[in-house]
Amino acid sequence: MSIGRQRRGPGTALAGLLLCALMQANYAADTAKISDASAFLDQTESLRIKDHRQFIQRLEQIHRESPTLSTADQWHLRYLDALESSLDGKYVAAEQPLRDVIDHSGDPMLAAKASALLMNNLAVGRRYEDAFKLTQQLTIDLPRIQDKTVRLQVLGYLSQVLNLAGQTDLAIKYAHMMEDAVPPGMTSCYPRSKLVAALWNAKRLTSSSPELKQAIDTCEASRQPIVATAMQLILGTLHLEEHQPAKTLSLLDQIAPGIQVNHYYPHTLSAQVQRAQAYEQLGKDEDARKAALAAVAMASPDDINDYLKDAYEVLYRVAKRHGNTTSALAYYEHYVAQDKGSLDDATAQALAYQTVQQQVLTHKLETEELGKQNSILRLQQALDTKAVETSRLYIILLLAAFGFIVLWLYRLKRSQLGFKRLSHHDSLTGIFNHQHFIGEAERVLNVLQKKFGHACLVSIDLDHFKQVNDTHGHAMGDAVLRRTVAVCQQQLRPADLFGRLGGEEFGILLHECSREQGMDIANRIRIAIGASPMEKDGDVISISASVGLASTDTSGYQLQRLCMEADAALYRAKRAGRNRVIADTENDSLVEA
Ligand code: GH3
Ligand code: MG
Ligand code: MG
Repeated sequence: MSIGRQRRGPGTALAGLLLCALMQANYAADTAKISDASAFLDQTESLRIKDHRQFIQRLEQIHRESPTLSTADQWHLRYLDALESSLDGKYVAAEQPLRDVIDHSGDPMLAAKASALLMNNLAVGRRYEDAFKLTQQLTIDLPRIQDKTVRLQVLGYLSQVLNLAGQTDLAIKYAHMMEDAVPPGMTSCYPRSKLVAALWNAKRLTSSSPELKQAIDTCEASRQPIVATAMQLILGTLHLEEHQPAKTLSLLDQIAPGIQVNHYYPHTLSAQVQRAQAYEQLGKDEDARKAALAAVAMASPDDINDYLKDAYEVLYRVAKRHGNTTSALAYYEHYVAQDKGSLDDATAQALAYQTVQQQVLTHKLETEELGKQNSILRLQQALDTKAVETSRLYIILLLAAFGFIVLWLYRLKRSQLGFKRLSHHDSLTGIFNHQHFIGEAERVLNVLQKKFGHACLVSIDLDHFKQVNDTHGHAMGDAVLRRTVAVCQQQLRPADLFGRLGGEEFGILLHECSREQGMDIANRIRIAIGASPMEKDGDVISISASVGLASTDTSGYQLQRLCMEADAALYRAKRAGRNRVIADTENDSLVEA
């Protein structure tokens, strides 16, 4: 099974982007006296982005000198204290003060800022459901937030959290709205970086996208080095995705001094992993291995993130190519652990978002239902006294409306349950997603092992698929993926498992199937894919796939081992010229075209 180079949610990168905007180093001593506490607090807040150290000093000063504060100023100070805790990563400590500000300060603008900050803290702390409740409320309040600074801040957090939830269209929309909310004297670095993050997550960014260049230029010009570096690291990844490793390396060399000065962990790690990936693409396996090991050494043992996943992927592939089966297996295990972490997180985000949407809808309908029930009771009482025949009609009508709402509620509850099921399926093709496929395959293999059954693991990767996207557009690429799935399904039996493992990579577990039967089916699938070209404007888009097969007959029942063997076979199929099936024989000579 090949390891997808799929990007799953820019969680870490986004959290990094947010905080870094608040860590600008510009340490100038400030000895302002507190003559006007209200103005002092306003100035202190404005330093939050420009000069974090001075921001802290001034907060300490106001607590030390404890001037008499009006109620409004007390609430403002409480908010600033919570902001400082948040910047320091103390999300739990910040929560209650922020909720107090939201519920009791009586200042709508301050409450909006507190809500946006709390929403972000909750999302960074992975409490997605609580975070999305605040997202709902802020979206409703947004038209009333006219103060530009507050509006910019709220929109920024909304864009970031919705991006995290995979709602990229909304994230892009809010990032665009931010452009209009930039107050005079401030640059567009912040809005543009949010736009890039959302476009990136939506896979709508290439290394030559003007939005990316604009963001880098604006952030560099306005001396926001950490945000600029974050944007450049995205550019580096894009060069890698476009198979231009030399460009990534030269970019990394160019930004290395800045990264060293700022010493910001996500950036140091990301740069190191990109270096490893670039060397690997250049065929410099030893350099790639060293760079990936250096990246892994930077992390603490319980770190789970996409960068480490990529580093282990490089280590695994290099070890496998050089025949170091034991290390390959060990690295593969690390890779799976990192991969599962980010998958779980992505699923949790999507699920929590949908749950909140559903709760809001259910609540609305339940309120309506109660209203209807009350009016039915009142009408019935009136009827007792008047006994007017025609009023019965109203009862019937109301009962019908009541029945309709009950039906709606029932369907809504059912769709809530449906979400659990949905989270197991790939949204583009409808087949199992990577995580669920792995879980199911493990379960089936366990059962088969007990009764000495056979199974084959088939790994399929479309050939030169990037060219389809490049020549005919991403939408056509999507259509090809859906067609491929339909074609494969025609060759499968109900008990076979079928999943999308990454972009254009699929896995199949053939149930109760010997190696020979497996080779037959795999070949039938390959031929069927080749025989189903797509058409666009009279052009025929021919498609082919390379297929690797591993069988329990030779590889045993451990899924990881089967995956590695199928993956290695697939790799050989690619090397041998693509559009063929290769099996995992002990000697590499059994090749079937
Ligand atoms: P090879 O024969 O070596 O497999 O070449 P390839 O071009 O198929 O492989 P590569 O891994 O370079 O490219 C895979 C491409 O799949 C890159 C990416 O843009 C595209 N892709 C990934 N996910 C999706 C998706 O959901 N939809 C579309 N349309 N394209 C996708
Ligand atoms: Mg691929
Ligand atoms: Mg491919």
